[in-house]
Amino acid sequence: MSNASPLAVTVLGATGSIGTSTLDVIARHPSRYRIHALSANRARHRLLEQCRAHRPRLAVLEREEDAAWLREQLADARLDTEVRAGAEALVEISEAREVDVVMAAIVGAAGLLPTLAAVRAGKRVLLANKEALVMSGGLFMEAVARSGATLLPIDSEHNAIYQCLPTEHRGGLAQHGVTQLLLTASGGPFRGWSVARLADVTPEQACAHPNWSMGRKISVDSATLMNKGLELIEACWLFDARPDQVQVVVHPQSVIHSMAAYNDGSVIAQLGNPDMRTPIAHGLAWPERIESGVQALDLFDVARLDFERPDEAAFPCLRLAREAIAAGGTAPAVLNAANEVAVEAFLDGQLGFAGIGELVARVRDICPVEPASELGGILEADERARREAREWLACR
Ligand code: NAD
Ligand code: MG
Repeated sequence: MSNASPLAVTVLGATGSIGTSTLDVIARHPSRYRIHALSANRARHRLLEQCRAHRPRLAVLEREEDAAWLREQLADARLDTEVRAGAEALVEISEAREVDVVMAAIVGAAGLLPTLAAVRAGKRVLLANKEALVMSGGLFMEAVARSGATLLPIDSEHNAIYQCLPTEHRGGLAQHGVTQLLLTASGGPFRGWSVARLADVTPEQACAHPNWSMGRKISVDSATLMNKGLELIEACWLFDARPDQVQVVVHPQSVIHSMAAYNDGSVIAQLGNPDMRTPIAHGLAWPERIESGVQALDLFDVARLDFERPDEAAFPCLRLAREAIAAGGTAPAVLNAANEVAVEAFLDGQLGFAGIGELVARVRDICPVEPASELGGILEADERARREAREWLACR
């Protein structure tokens, strides 16, 4: 490996929390990885800094006006990074022949098409963008199987489970003696709060996660437990598990990142400090191991590990997600789309915290469940759910 030429990496969502951590790990291993392309939505200043530091061949922004600005800045700095704008460019930097690894770290449904493009092109795909898999589960996993892409979960829980399972875990968990996946959850900033107390929490409170520093959307998802719901769906697809084989365990210290239970009574856990650079380094180097910059875990510092059942009465989103995966078809895509609209409305101050679950349930009741075997149908379901969610918000 050390003699080979560096692997070319595209980082989708480079300016975000996962993107920044990815670049941090990559910068520690210049002989193993080089950056082919970086993308951002609108964070052009941050992307400029990253272009200076990592010298990608290509940089992609959503809007042409931001791309034009970046082009000028790069020309002034005498850097030859080519700048493109728009969704098609995202697909191109994900499937380009010269790309070996794609970090899928865009937040939300916007990441679906480029992530699928990377999968279809048979890349090593590091999946942080859980929404893409939640929306398109069956289709996504079939594309992985067909193209021979190497899919490595970056979500810390799924990365932990991946590490706790036998290397070859396809073909159903039971075949490998796995009886249950134990998906740990920090419980978010409002663990133990009553429904009444949750009624007037603010976006700032929701985004102040006790253990992890993350983007705003996933921070709100962690506060409502929708994040755990999305992760339950993600686990079912990634590990070919039935929903009843995945148990959510609230573990406030966030030191055990998840576990696999076996039929001989063994429970295998993966532990570490809560720092996303561990799963990112694992995904980049698998099956090898590389240094990530994460501090070694000091168990005397941790001192104790606690476990609780999730409170689904105060946090209905977890139940809604379980119902969506059980309903199948486009139900998870509808859940995800309604949740994205609800979280945005909550962050904008248009919707209360409890309104998030209420809106998701409302949209779920309106939208029919269709088969999700075609991308077109999934995108239609996503669009319809967003429309219904916006109408509900406007009519209240
Ligand atoms: P973030 O908000 O910090 O970053 C999101 C990135 O995506 C940014 O670079 C942004 O510019 C880009 N982006 C946003 N909207 C876009 C659009 N419409 N088109 C193109 N690019 C767009 O988010 P994050 O916390 O880094 O999370 C990224 C993904 O990883 C999410 O799916 C999240 O659920 C998942 N994830 C994050 C963490 C974490 O610790 N942050 C952990 C597990 C999983
Ligand atoms: Mg997670």
